[in-house]
Formats: sequence, C-alpha cells, structure tokens
Amino acid sequence: MATDITHEELETTAELLALIEDPAGREVYDPATNELIGRTGETDAAGVDDAVVRARKAQQSWALMTHESRSDFLHKVADAIESVAEPLAELLSREQGKPLNGPNARFEVDACASWLRAHADFVIEPEVLVDDESGRAEMHYVPVGVVGAVGPWNWPMMISVWQMAPALRMGNAVILKPSEYTPLSVQALVAVMNSVLPVDIVQIVSGGGEIGQALVGHQGVDKVMFTGSVETGKKIMRSAADNLSRLTLELGGNDAGIVLEDAEPEKMAEDLFWGAFINTGQTCAAMKRLYVPASLYERVCDTLVEFAKNMPMGNGLDESNVLGPLQNRAQYDIVERLVEAAKNDGATVLLGGDPDNASVGNFYPTTLVADIDNNNPLVSEEQFGPVLPIIKYDDINQAIEWANGLEVGLGASVWGENSDELKRVASLLEAGSVWLNKHGAIDPRVPFGGVKQSGFGLEFGVDGLKQVALPKVISW
Ligand code: NDP
Repeated sequence: MATDITHEELETTAELLALIEDPAGREVYDPATNELIGRTGETDAAGVDDAVVRARKAQQSWALMTHESRSDFLHKVADAIESVAEPLAELLSREQGKPLNGPNARFEVDACASWLRAHADFVIEPEVLVDDESGRAEMHYVPVGVVGAVGPWNWPMMISVWQMAPALRMGNAVILKPSEYTPLSVQALVAVMNSVLPVDIVQIVSGGGEIGQALVGHQGVDKVMFTGSVETGKKIMRSAADNLSRLTLELGGNDAGIVLEDAEPEKMAEDLFWGAFINTGQTCAAMKRLYVPASLYERVCDTLVEFAKNMPMGNGLDESNVLGPLQNRAQYDIVERLVEAAKNDGATVLLGGDPDNASVGNFYPTTLVADIDNNNPLVSEEQFGPVLPIIKYDDINQAIEWANGLEVGLGASVWGENSDELKRVASLLEAGSVWLNKHGAIDPRVPFGGVKQSGFGLEFGVDGLKQVALPKVISW
C-alpha cells in the first residue's frame, strides 16, 4: 500500500516506528540491550493472496511506463531515503545491532540510495543478434511480472534494495518477505519508498518461514529472488518448482582468503580485518578462513591481532563503536560452538574467544584463532560472526585445494604483490567473485553471484536487470 505521508515529515526514529508499528503485533527486541524496539504486524496466508492480487494489478501500468519514467521514480525513491537517512540508520542499528559508524548502519542506508541510483541509470537496449541479408533478429527484455523477494537479517535494508532496484527498473511489482528477526527495518524502508512509488508496486508480507514459503510457492509469483542460507535455498527451489517460477538464489558462503609468500602483512592488516569482520562477520561474502604461508604466519597473526584489538565493539548507537552484537541468540550459539570446537582441537586463541555469557546483549568478542586444522568445524562450517581462523600452509597448491574443498563458492581473495601470481591463483579458485588485495568489495555495476551451493543467477549491473526480465526474440 502507498504510505500516506511525505518523507519531509519524518525526522525521528520514533516517527518512523509510529508509521509502521502494529501495537497488537509481535515484539521485536534490540540485540545489544534486549530492550523492546517495537511491534511488527504479521501476514497470514490470505494476506499473501491479497498482496499477489494487488501486485498483479499494479504491475500492469508500471510495466507500460518507459524506462525513463521508472528510472525517474527510482531516483526520487533514493532522494526520499537520503532525506530520512539518519532515522533509518538508527532503527537499523537498534534492530540489527550494527553500529551507526564504520561499514555499518549509515553505510547500509547510503548503499540503498546509491544502488537505486545506479540501477536507474543502467542502459538496457534490445540486442541485435542478426542483421544481414537473411534478416534481422533482436533480443528484447520484458518484465517478468510479480517478483517475490525473501531476505535475511544481516543486511536487511541493503539486500532488499538489491532485490527491488532491478525488479522495479524492469517493470515488475515486488512483494518482500523480510526476515522475522529484522522486519521493522525493511518495513520502515518500504514505507519511505512508498511515499514516492505508485500504490502496490512494492508490498511487504511479514512473518516467519511459512509466509516466505506461501509467497515463493504462490502461482501468482513469477520470479523468486532469495538471499539466505543454503538449506532454505533448497526448500525454496522445491516450492518454486510447481510453478516453474524463475529463480535467483544468493546463498551462504565460506569465503577463503589466500596470502601469498610475497605479501606485506603490515600493509594489508586493515583490509584483511574488514574483509573478515565487516558487519561483525555477519556477511555472506566476508572472508571466513584465511590461508597464510608458514614463512609469514607469525607476522600476519601479529599484525591482525594488533589491528583487531583496537576495534571497539558495543552498543551500535554509541558513535565510538564499529563492531556490534550478533543479531540473534541462535547465531551467537553457532559462533560459540564453533570456537569451542577449535579450542577442543588444540587450536590457539590469539584474541577473544572468551564471551561473557552473562552480558545482556549478544556480544561475542572479536576472535582470532591460529594453529587450526583445515578440517576443524570452525574452518569447514560458516561461522557468520566475529571470528577468523588462520590456517598455515606450506605449498600454494595445498592452499588452493583447501580453498576449493567446500561445497560453497561465493567469494574468495588473494593477497600479495606480484600481479601475475595474484591473477594465476585467482583463476584457479572456485568462486563467483575473486578479489585481489581486498575482500567482499561490491559495486552496483559489477555482477555478483555464487557458484556451487552458493546459488545461481547474478545480481547487479545490466546482467542483474536481465535476471528480472524475460528474454523475447523478435525477428523479421
Ligand atoms: P535463512 O535461510 O534462515 O532465512 C532467510 C529468509 O528465508 C528469512 O526471511 C526466512 O524467514 C525465510 N525462510 C525460511 N524458511 C523458508 C521457506 N521454507 N520458504 C521461504 N522462505 C523461508 O537465512 P538467515 O536469515 O539466517 O541468513 C543467514 C544466511 O544467509 C547465511 O548462511 C548467509 O551466508 C546467507 N546470506 C547470503 C547472502 C548472499 O548474498 N549470498 C547474503 C546474506 C546472507 P524467517 O527468518 O522469518 O524465518
């Protein structure tokens, strides 16, 4: 539904919350303080049906608009988000836990606006396939219809925009199902967007996995975009099968970083740290295991400890913090279990690893683990938290084999000075994106997607636009 407000009226987080809150709804708590933030309404199966009917109707006139008109809307949506960026960032910080500062809440809200603008400006023209004496054939890209988008709790606003921006640009209507852990952030974002967009072009259905399932299996949903875990991705593929809905799956990763013999540890410590610890490690394409040659092992460990121990963790609303709590207790328990597995196996905890289980918030300290076996669960399972295992290798071929040894392949990185060797190793890594001397750097112009069980389909760039369109060949 369209929001009956102008975004100029919204100046505080309380005003944002007043707009979206359901006083009789489910309570949502701050993961740093365990204080009540607000209450979210929940949709039932009939509500999903209703949203689909509305979306199908609204999409018809949206699809008839020109690309220029829709791009204009996307820029206006970006303006609206920028005008209430601070209340949005504050709500996001309180609900997700991420600090306002660092590559966190303000960064995420800013990315929402810049992703919308980038997608508004991409040029997508019919492609000429044949043009000779035999005739002419052109590939056109037409809207799919209704996109059902299901998202996770780690970057709730930004990932929703990753799903919405290309879908809207291409003439589709979108129904979002946010994670039940972070519904308010997405509802607030959409309320602001709907102060600009035509009615019912973007709607939200809220609730748990069963509402997600009702949405992705709905026969009125033509395309499903999902970002989340591998396990849920497989369920979604099954739900979408009956309708043969189009699918983009951005699933989990366990990204490896490989340091080469000629790397300079002091120079790269900061980038290595943020490659692993961005959003307190709760990032799909964060570096989750680091392979270091024996010759550099101690230096890399020492420089990382030096950098990491000075990065403040705490309540996200405190301007001094750059690391926050884990968003939910279930994730905290996973992180704790994996670090205990490493300790039990005789690994050395260089930093952290000693959570205060009595603390009110879900704070797990920044943790660096050395002398760990490649088969340890902290290496082979996705920790999705502020912990990095550092694995020693003697031979680069061994490191490459270990990096490629898992069923997932979202991102990877290679660190060193010799660009030929960096590129050679990159070419051998099984991942959708390989970064050189950085990790997880995304850009709306550069397609992003996983291989193996990290999913399929691309997001971002013109390739991303094509994933929310139907190819249509016209020839004469
Ligand atoms: P989940 O897979 O648990 O949940 C993701 C979303 O799917 C939630 O909204 C969830 O609802 C919903 N859902 C659950 N079951 C179903 C179902 N049967 N049908 C439809 N929807 C369903 O992931 P998390 O939220 O725990 O996110 C963490 C995971 O996501 C990590 O593994 C991470 O690597 C991955 N991820 C991947 C990214 C990428 O781009 N590749 C980016 C970010 C995260 P609810 O939570 O309300 O139950």
